[in-house]
Amino acid sequence: MFIESPFFRQALDQLISVAEYVDVPAGTIERLKIPKRTITVSVPVRLDNGETRMFLGTRVQHCLTSGPGKGGLRYGPHVDQGEVAALAMLMSWKCGLLHLPFGGAKGGIQCDPTTMSIGELERMTRRFTEEMMPFIGPNVDVMAPDMGTNEQIMAWIYDTYSMTMGANCPQIVTGKPVAVFGTLGRKTATGAGVVYTIEEAAKEKNLRLVDATAIIQGFGNVGAVAARNLHERGCRITGVADVSGHYFRKEGFDVPALLAHMESNPTLENYDCITSDRVTLEEFFTQRCDVLVPAALERQIDGEIAPKLRCRILAEGANGPCTTEADLFLREHSEDIFVIPDILCNAGGVIVSYFEWVQGIQMYFWTGDEVDSRLQQLLRRAFASTLGMAKKNNVDMRTAALALGVHKVAEEKFMRGLYP
Ligand code: GLU
Repeated sequence: MFIESPFFRQALDQLISVAEYVDVPAGTIERLKIPKRTITVSVPVRLDNGETRMFLGTRVQHCLTSGPGKGGLRYGPHVDQGEVAALAMLMSWKCGLLHLPFGGAKGGIQCDPTTMSIGELERMTRRFTEEMMPFIGPNVDVMAPDMGTNEQIMAWIYDTYSMTMGANCPQIVTGKPVAVFGTLGRKTATGAGVVYTIEEAAKEKNLRLVDATAIIQGFGNVGAVAARNLHERGCRITGVADVSGHYFRKEGFDVPALLAHMESNPTLENYDCITSDRVTLEEFFTQRCDVLVPAALERQIDGEIAPKLRCRILAEGANGPCTTEADLFLREHSEDIFVIPDILCNAGGVIVSYFEWVQGIQMYFWTGDEVDSRLQQLLRRAFASTLGMAKKNNVDMRTAALALGVHKVAEEKFMRGLYP
């Protein structure tokens, strides 16, 4: 295998599992199994204490057939090439499913951003951008926020790139602050999109969100927005989690109070005796609920946990939260649990990134309502085509979404041909 990594293997298994639905010669599928470019750079950073520390940065461009590479940049101690390569592949299918003019890419730096000062983060980000200069560009590869990164980091990338080029170039990166050529609605787009897809799934399952309960793993940019938007629709949020632990409260959490708490605290831990609600990861996932939203790391639900799930809708806010074994089980039980697969469920982020890129190119900016209604239009349309494909071929939602996404990319690759 190109990269020895369980997550990359999982992504490869997914590709292989839908090959039969993609009507292109086998050689085209072979080309999609290995990323087009894998770039690893060393990132030397002068720390605040005067020492120099080396970080490893990586960017994987899985496919550039449909347009520039597109995908997040993550900072975390777990980041490695296998994780980034798997996520880059998922981005290709996500952009394919949504018909966005991008190829899939992803990047990361192995570091612990929570222990670094603002100055250290800035120097690391700017040096990484400098090292990546030959491999990025508004028509080559466009980064965005992901786990451990945010708007400020995108602003530094934008500035470093523009300074080096000697010209203002906001379309080099998306997820920028609104004040510097960001778009309205990008920050909340992924979480908002998760809830729009849950609304569609609820219609299919005859579930009224006003009477529903939801459990959400992750309280960052995706999980917290999903919690807020589900709460606004009347849903009772009985489970929340972040790095400090997993918490379950049968009567439901006070979501506005939790959101207020997070404005001045790094984690959920000190919120209103929450530690007395602490449960294990397995207990958390296997509580009865209507909607379960894993919105944290990949590979959280494995073959042991999957048969014990007691939710009606599994909405994958995170990328790759179910292992291959979990997925095999869920595929056979799709009548019981309606899975909204990651490449559909969390696509709101990259959809609004696309809108930001377009606005940056045109220097013409949209209202928040325009962004939101176009987001809903693209996402609900992709949901309908995935559901249609699933019903027509009698397959589960993940197979349908992947088949559509892979088909779009593979067909373009085939039509463009193999050069020379
Ligand atoms: N990191 C997000 C994702 O996994 C967004 C990528 C983007 O906006 O380019 O989809």
